[in-house]
Amino acid sequence: MDRNVKRKGRLFVISAPSGTGKTTLCRLLMDAFKGISYSVSHTTRKPREGEVQGKDYHFVSIPDFERMIHDGGLVEWAKVHDNYYGTSLAFITDSLENGRDILLDIDVQGAANIRTAYPEAVTIFIMPPSLDALKERLEKRGTDRPEVIATRLGNAVTEMARKEFYTHVIVNDCLETAKNELFSVVRSYLEP
Ligand code: ADP
Ligand code: 5GP
Repeated sequence: MDRNVKRKGRLFVISAPSGTGKTTLCRLLMDAFKGISYSVSHTTRKPREGEVQGKDYHFVSIPDFERMIHDGGLVEWAKVHDNYYGTSLAFITDSLENGRDILLDIDVQGAANIRTAYPEAVTIFIMPPSLDALKERLEKRGTDRPEVIATRLGNAVTEMARKEFYTHVIVNDCLETAKNELFSVVRSYLEP
């Protein structure tokens, strides 16, 4: 490769039905691959216990989010489980232009929009072993009310129907196995 040609960053997208273990896997990935930057989304959802402003999400008000949509500040956005979520256009553009690899943890609608804007993106779908296991994980996590869990389970079925559009599908049954599979997929796209 011509050494004067600047390498562009690689864009990884991970989606999964809520409760599958995506956050757990993304955290492990970010710990192990220090060269990958996490795209911190904007959301109107309230922070869960332990979530940090600017690290897990940029928690914003509905009017502020709508202003960002209006001003074209988001490369993609979606309403997921009754809250707005969106990805900063400036962060993506700046990272890729400067050769930084990035990870987006976004839903199936967002992934479809990113695929259109960046066809070279590597998209990974994480599947739960079963709907029963998903329900159990959501209940055990203890962060959502029963009616929220019911909405998330309903949405999971529609989300899983979109898995064929992803470059890779990984089942998170045993966490260690899923982690190893995810790491080897990501490693296969990075330069030695
Ligand atoms: P998501 O980000 O997909 O909503 P989380 O990472 O918050 O999911 O995981 C949901 C719950 O399931 C958490 O309590 C997490 O510790 C647990 N979990 C994650 N992966 C596994 C796994 N392979 N087996 C059992 N429990 C898991
Ligand atoms: P949670 O509320 O559990 O953190 O996230 C709910 C869903 O919103 C998850 O599927 C997560 O991947 C998705 N999500 C988080 N950030 C974004 C984003 O910026 N854009 C889109 N489209 N979805 C997002």
